[in-house]
Amino acid sequence: MQRIKKGDTVEVIAGNEVGFRGEVQEVVTAWKVNRYKQKVKRDYDSYRVVVSGVNMVKKHQRPVSQTRSQVGIIEFEAPIHISNVMLVCSACDEPSRIGFRIEESKKFRYCKRCGEAIV
Ligand SMILES: [Zn+2]
Repeated sequence: MQRIKKGDTVEVIAGNEVGFRGEVQEVVTAWKVNRYKQKVKRDYDSYRVVVSGVNMVKKHQRPVSQTRSQVGIIEFEAPIHISNVMLVCSACDEPSRIGFRIEESKKFRYCKRCGEAIV
């Protein structure tokens, strides 16, 4: 189970945008591959997240005969490494570490700071 999911609010804890908060738009997953480039298992250390408003980059998109909808200088969020963000607890409104608990045979995440379950 992932500690950070799409739709969560996270705070940036490292890099040049420390303290910024935003919503996770996408979790970019990664796989470990064998020598035949087949997916073997999930590479949790290489996961990245796209956070709204964080790590904005500009790209100069060249027009190619009406196949591209966006041309010119386009601005978008580039993914940042998952270790550089921390989940913001919905109950205590602080970036906090996450634990897992199983209650009524359902696994869910909880905040290690205040103990509340994270929905
Ligand atoms: Zn909390």
